[in-house]
Amino acid sequence: MLRFGFDIGGTNIAAGIIDENNRLIAKDSVKFPRGEGTDAVVAACAEVYQAILDRTGAAPDAIAGVGVAVPGSVNPEAGLVIDAHNLGFHHTPLASLLEAALHKPVCLVNDADAATLAEHRIGALKGTRTAMMITIGTGIGGGLIVNGMLFGGGRGNGTEPGHMVLCNGGRHCTCGIDGCAETYCSATRLAKDGAAFGMSSAKDVIEAAKQGNPDALELFRAYIDDFGSYIASIVNLLDPERIAIGGGVSGAGSFLLDPLRADVARKCFFETCPEIVVASAGNDAGIIGAGLIIS
Ligand SMILES: [Zn+2]
Repeated sequence: MLRFGFDIGGTNIAAGIIDENNRLIAKDSVKFPRGEGTDAVVAACAEVYQAILDRTGAAPDAIAGVGVAVPGSVNPEAGLVIDAHNLGFHHTPLASLLEAALHKPVCLVNDADAATLAEHRIGALKGTRTAMMITIGTGIGGGLIVNGMLFGGGRGNGTEPGHMVLCNGGRHCTCGIDGCAETYCSATRLAKDGAAFGMSSAKDVIEAAKQGNPDALELFRAYIDDFGSYIASIVNLLDPERIAIGGGVSGAGSFLLDPLRADVARKCFFETCPEIVVASAGNDAGIIGAGLIIS
């Protein structure tokens, strides 16, 4: 059977069909109808769903179910999006609304968890039983694989690795707490620090550091020190086999990973460190992971 995945973001709704081999065989996207209400979101999803089925010639009966990734907290059993601030969803019964529109069973998942699941099935975490995915973007998202399965949290709330406090009373986080890991390890931190030196993005800082700019090198060194402490803490808590780093900053490749591995090795409690690798499931990981939720 085929499976259908949606990755609903605040800018676009991306969607696609996953085949029996976990491959994305067709995809499309539509603009997220910002500020137009839940019905408009459901209508946009139904439109892209039908467009993909029409284009591929897939029969509706061939679709086993629909997985939906959203940037926020979900209750999959109740089919509720608890809070997805970027989408304007608060206790929204998205699963039942989509089931009525698509005539398919619908399952909700947090987008970072969907990306983690994709990474585990087709990407850099394949073959592991205990592993972690950390996505470094504007903020930090991530997910956890325990005993070969996506860990959805002991109470179903998922995991929020970006909001582990790395520095008590430190930099102010968007969540309202001071000192969260994402205020130290996200791309936003590099961009903020770089602004004082005329560098407007994390990419600018990394490029300047690669060129040997002393200010950029100092900012990058401080960033690696914080990032290494964060990853070493995760390692000491979980003893994972592998950690995959995704998001824009991971594009720095070995320029990031080599000093990061060295820093984590220095701070890790254990004799040996787990592998730290770049995520490889790509930009469609959210769609694929959403589809993979359907068993
Ligand atoms: Zn926070």
